[in-house]
Amino acid sequence: MDLRHWLGRATDAIQKWADTFGPYEAHPSLRVDDDRFAEAFQEFTGRLEDNYPFFHPRYAGQMLKPPHPAAVVGYLTAMLINPNNHALDGGPATARMEREAVARLAAMFGYDTHLGHLTTSGTIANLEALFVARELHPGRGIAYSQDAHYTHGRMCHLLGLEGHPVRTDSGGRIDLDALAGLLRTGKVGTVVLTAGTTGLGAVDPVHEALALRERHGVRIHVDAAYGGFFTLLAGADGPAGLPPAPWRAIAQCDSIVVDPHKHGLQPYGCGAVLFRDPEVGRFYLHDSPYTYFTSSELHLGEISLECSRAGASAAALWLTFQLLPPTPDGLGRVLAASRRAALRWAELITASDALELYQQPELDIVTYFPAVESASLSAIDAASARILAAGMTEPDPVFLSTFTASREAFTARHPKLTADADDARVLRSVLLKPESEHSVEHVLGRVEQLARNR
Ligand SMILES: *Cc1c(COP(=O)(O)O)cnc(C)c1O
Repeated sequence: MDLRHWLGRATDAIQKWADTFGPYEAHPSLRVDDDRFAEAFQEFTGRLEDNYPFFHPRYAGQMLKPPHPAAVVGYLTAMLINPNNHALDGGPATARMEREAVARLAAMFGYDTHLGHLTTSGTIANLEALFVARELHPGRGIAYSQDAHYTHGRMCHLLGLEGHPVRTDSGGRIDLDALAGLLRTGKVGTVVLTAGTTGLGAVDPVHEALALRERHGVRIHVDAAYGGFFTLLAGADGPAGLPPAPWRAIAQCDSIVVDPHKHGLQPYGCGAVLFRDPEVGRFYLHDSPYTYFTSSELHLGEISLECSRAGASAAALWLTFQLLPPTPDGLGRVLAASRRAALRWAELITASDALELYQQPELDIVTYFPAVESASLSAIDAASARILAAGMTEPDPVFLSTFTASREAFTARHPKLTADADDARVLRSVLLKPESEHSVEHVLGRVEQLARNR
């Protein structure tokens, strides 16, 4: 896809549509002359160079990459009209695209009924799920694992709910015995399970936790903001296939959050929340005297906490799904490449005498640390920090990130280490780009070199 060609076609298509309404002139107050624009643009693009190369395989740090060209064209084309998906009056076309894209997400998880919509982010999507949880179980708190996203605790505070962090096991998954003990107190109304933790990519045992829902009368919300699209690899053949049980069980959970702006090839501003029972729409009821007038059909703003939202986000996701649908043969192939890259990293790290795995990757996040002589937490922390910094500043750069592991978490995985500090940073690489698969040897070779040169 040649972006320049399609962006040209985009402006032509929108102009052609605009012309059907007859000529008009832009107001002189908005006029900007080309020379002044050229000057501002030069400064602007210069400033943008102060960035990390998220697109490049040598960037193996955080969950960041540019959107797919189809998403870029979809977003920018719709943005020329700038619809607001709050209401059908704000843009019927993109509101319908949102409904269709959300239905595809619901189908991906195996929901046979759903109510859902896009949001600005995973954080807001989780807020909505916890808001509905509170309405259904007033006065009861929320349980989530210690490794769950930090915003769950913050959103509990915001909603006036008690948050209950639950211990994790040595794989970073919620400890079901600890959870069961907590549920017996009756204090909890909703359990948040994470399908792919942000730090380690650990998948909570959703299938095993379901039994607790019936026993204790709680709701189960699945935060799959990062990991959700990996459901496309559940039970797949080949090395990238994932154990299917937790992913299949998601279909029975009460609500799900997934972020198309992480593994769905979208630009930022695209999260999604899905509820299995459409009846929960009643909690969003409100009366607005200035929206909702062209149609008695449900408006997206009637089932969301946010008001204005970019219709362009829905357009981008819809257009992307036309080409790379959320199916095993579509987006699944993209995810599989990331997964294979992570497996290969893990294999090479295991074979290396300069690096050691922190834990086996479950999805596409690899955590590892330099093999230091006096194996202590403080030495590992210092060495990780040095490699992170050297990676970015020395020639032939590699961009990594770090993960802070607590003493308990570290020694649960590596009992022989000297635990001389409360925590230690390890190195962390999210292999979000399928291209990572083709550069494993070079990028990891470079990390090894840095580990040896310390
Ligand atoms: C990224 C993430 C979030 C937060 O989503 P944003 O889109 O960054 O607001 C929540 N939960 C998990 C598991 C995540 O990975």
